[in-house]
Amino acid sequence: MRTQVAIIGSGPSGLLLGQLLTEAGIDNVIIDRVGKDYILGRVRAGVLEEGTVALMDQAKAGARMHAEGLPHDGISLAFDGRDHRIDLFGLTGGKRVLVYGQTELTRDLMEHREMRGGQTIYDAANVQPHAFEGATPYVTYEKDGVSQRIDCDFVAGCDGFHGPSRKAVPEKAIRTFEKVYPFGWLGILAEVAPVSHELIYANHPRGFALCSMRSEHRSRYYLQCPVDEKIEDWSDDRFWDELRRRLPVQHAEALITAPSFEKSIAPLRSFVAEPMRFGRMFLVGDAAHIVPPTGAKGLNLAASDVHYLFSGLAEYYQDGSNAGIDAYSQRALARVWKAVRFSWWMTTMLHRFPDTGDFDQKIQEAELDYLTHSRAASTALAENYVGLPY
Ligand SMILES: Cc1cc2nc3c(=O)[nH]c(=O)nc-3n(C[C@H](O)[C@H](O)[C@H](O)COP(=O)(O)OP(=O)(O)OC[C@H]3O[C@@H](n4cnc5c(N)ncnc54)[C@H](O)[C@@H]3O)c2cc1C
Repeated sequence: MRTQVAIIGSGPSGLLLGQLLTEAGIDNVIIDRVGKDYILGRVRAGVLEEGTVALMDQAKAGARMHAEGLPHDGISLAFDGRDHRIDLFGLTGGKRVLVYGQTELTRDLMEHREMRGGQTIYDAANVQPHAFEGATPYVTYEKDGVSQRIDCDFVAGCDGFHGPSRKAVPEKAIRTFEKVYPFGWLGILAEVAPVSHELIYANHPRGFALCSMRSEHRSRYYLQCPVDEKIEDWSDDRFWDELRRRLPVQHAEALITAPSFEKSIAPLRSFVAEPMRFGRMFLVGDAAHIVPPTGAKGLNLAASDVHYLFSGLAEYYQDGSNAGIDAYSQRALARVWKAVRFSWWMTTMLHRFPDTGDFDQKIQEAELDYLTHSRAASTALAENYVGLPY
């Protein structure tokens, strides 16, 4: 088989890139190691920046997102028993975020790909990129026990943190930066109305908590927990009790509870691989970088990578210019590092670290106090939260 762009990974970055390429008349094939239902069962991000929303529109897959997504103009920071609203809309000159689950975004992109006749190979084993340093790269995989090969002009490694693309790069050609946080997030989904119509980020002596949502009837709540915590030790009742303890009293009293239908623990890390281009292979999204979810940036960074790569590939095929693909790594990384910084800063400001001493605790309190009394500091948070420009 031959295609112009072979895309490894059918997560948000692979699907969005595939859809944009298809709309621009650039042939592409997506290969994933798992099936469609498995991908759609992964509950992950849920806050979209305006840039991500615009890319979904450009991919002609945004209709349901606009109909069902919840625009949010602010977030709350809860600490010291009180609540402080960050007016995202007012502080950024009219920008907002859209709450719309990653699962739904993925479903929309998959449906549009099917409608446009785009080819996706699911349940492919041993997917591997080859010869990307030369002019004739290709991807091999096994399907139903038969070895297959796709020849292509370019490989897009959209295969997440554990995928084969980054691993295929020789060690001496890549540099990685990593920070692992000494805690995780225990998250649940429940079919209940959210405790507040905006997200609440709570800093509490017992640990961080986040009140988030997927819709007006479905809530997503998180608790900071030790990284080696066992999920079976967390009954729903224990989760709800602990969440109430970490919220200001007015929210704790308003909290509606119900049995959870998803419960998981995610470790938190910051990770960046440089560069993001190796000859004719590009790393995109989680394949190149991971951020802790505190800043709601993971999915949005995958989207901004896609923006830079798609414009480079479109320039290559439509104008015969290498300028965009040559600039991809540098342009993407400049934005990635700013989001890595913001996510690290939000995480540091809002969590309790096991080794926090009195001095660090006082600094954290001063940071929150400064943030809530300084328009400049609130504006800096708001402009990063809604997403820096592409
Ligand atoms: C548990 C969890 C919770 C998260 N929560 C949040 C959140 O609350 N907020 C937020 O902003 N972000 C969150 N994120 C991050 C966000 O979901 C990711 O940044 C986003 O999914 C990145 O999209 P991606 O397409 O680059 O990678 P992925 O979504 O990881 O997609 C990669 C794709 O590659 C495929 N793949 C992997 N290995 C292979 C292989 N060997 N061969 C072929 N295909 C392969 C996978 O099956 C997958 O479909 C979370 C991530 C995780 C893991």
